[in-house]
Amino acid sequence: MPFLYPAPDASRHILPSGEGYLSVRIGFENNMLDKTFHIANFGCRASQSEGAAIQDELLDAGASVATTPYDASVVVVNSCTVTEEADRDVRLMIRRIATRSPETRIVVTGCYAQRAPEELAAMPGVEYVVGNSHKPMVGRLTMNVLAEDFISPGRAEVFCSDIFLEQELSPRTHSGSAGRTRAIVKVQDGCNANCSFCIIPSVRGRSRSMTPDMVLAEVRSLVERGYKEIIVSGIHLGTYGRDLDSPTSLLALIRRMLDEISELARIRLSSIEPLEVTPAIISLVAEEPRLAHHFHIPLQSGSRRILREMRRPYTPSHYAELAQTIRARIEDAAIGADVMVGFPGESDEEFAETFRLIDASPLTYLHVFPYSSRPGTPAADMPAPVPSHVSQFRAKALRKLIASRNEAFRARMIGRDLEVLVLNSGDAISSNFIRVYPEADLPRNTWVSLCATALQQDGLAAR
Ligand code: SF4
Repeated sequence: MPFLYPAPDASRHILPSGEGYLSVRIGFENNMLDKTFHIANFGCRASQSEGAAIQDELLDAGASVATTPYDASVVVVNSCTVTEEADRDVRLMIRRIATRSPETRIVVTGCYAQRAPEELAAMPGVEYVVGNSHKPMVGRLTMNVLAEDFISPGRAEVFCSDIFLEQELSPRTHSGSAGRTRAIVKVQDGCNANCSFCIIPSVRGRSRSMTPDMVLAEVRSLVERGYKEIIVSGIHLGTYGRDLDSPTSLLALIRRMLDEISELARIRLSSIEPLEVTPAIISLVAEEPRLAHHFHIPLQSGSRRILREMRRPYTPSHYAELAQTIRARIEDAAIGADVMVGFPGESDEEFAETFRLIDASPLTYLHVFPYSSRPGTPAADMPAPVPSHVSQFRAKALRKLIASRNEAFRARMIGRDLEVLVLNSGDAISSNFIRVYPEADLPRNTWVSLCATALQQDGLAAR
C-alpha cells in the first residue's frame, strides 16, 4: 500500500503546514458562492456516522446540500471495501458522476480509499483521495474544492498513511438543524481480532475508544439538538473501553449515559460480537425501558469447522444458546445476525448446519453476504473456493427462510401497543426494530404509542 503522507498530528483538525501537505485553507463562507455538496455514503453505521460528521462540518462552513450527486459541485464518496461488490459499487458511483456530470468534482474517503488509494486516484473526476488515517481532513479538503477559485491540478492528491499509527479516537463534531430523529455515535474504531476473511482491521487499525466523558458530551449535545434516538456504534463495539488509560466497558458506558442524561429517550446498540453480549448487557436491555429491544450479533456460520477456519472465537452452540437466552428474557426483542455463505471449503452439509441453526433459532432478521475474497486476508489464499452460483443459491435459501421468520415475528406484534419514534419520512421505528406505518399523519420526531393493526410491506400498519 503506498503511504504518501505522514499521519496527522494529535491536534488533528489543525494541519501542519510543512512539507508534504497540500495547503488547506479555512474560512470559505464567502468564497463558495452557490456551490453545493453531496455525501454518498457506503458501508456500515460507523462509516455513516463519519459521513454525517463531514456533512455537519460542511454545513457549518456555509455550504449547502445538493439533492443528488449529479447536481452537486462536489461529491464526497465515503467508501466501503468490505466485499468486492462494495468496491464495485464505489467505482460505479464515481464513473456515473464523471459521465453524467463531468463538472462535478469528487473527494473519495473511507475504507476503500485507505486500502487502494492509487486505484481511486486514477479515476475520472477525483480531486482528493483521503484514507481513514486522514479522514478528519475531508471537510477542509472538500471546502478547498468548493472554493470559487479552485483550479483542478488535473491529477488527484492522495492523503493516506499507516492506519496502525492511529492511537486515539477523536470525537466527531456535529451540528445540524434541530428536529433530526436518530444519530449514530461512533464510540470505538478499529479491530484487534483477526477473522481470516476480514479486511477491516487493515483499513481501520487497532481498536481505540473515545473516552466516556467525550461520548457523554457528544450524546448530550445531540440530545439538546433534538435527536430522540442514539445509536451507539463501533467497528468492534463489544471491546469498547479496553484500550483506554482507565479501562472501562460498553456496559459501564451505557449505564453512565442512562444515569447522567435523563433526557435521552432511547439508546440502540449496534452490532456486538457473540462473546461480548454478556448476561449483564442482556439484563440491562431487559430492564431498562430506554434501551431498544434490539440485538445485532454476527453469526457468520453455523458450522463449527467453518467458524474455526474463519478464526471466530465461539461455537455454533454458544451462539444458539445466546439467542435463546435473549428470547427467553425479552420476548419481543429483534435479534439480527450477519451470515456469510460460500466461505472457502464450505460444503453442502456445512451450509446445512448454518441453515438448521437459523431455522431453530429466534433470529428475526439477517444480513446475508456471499463470501468475497479480499486481497491480503488469510482466507484469500484458502483452497476450495465455492462457485459463485452455489453461494448465491445458499444466500437465497437463507433470505427466504428469514423472510418468513420476520413476517411471523411482525405478525406476533399485531394487536399490541408499540412505542414508536415518528421519523422525518412519516413512518416510524419501534424499539424492536420494526418499521411502522401510521394510518394518520403524525408530528415528526415525536414518540407516540400506536396499536399494530396489520402486516404491511416490510413492517406493520398501526393506529
Ligand atoms: S471482529 Fe472479525 S469480522 Fe469484525 S471487524 Fe474484526 S476482524 Fe472483521
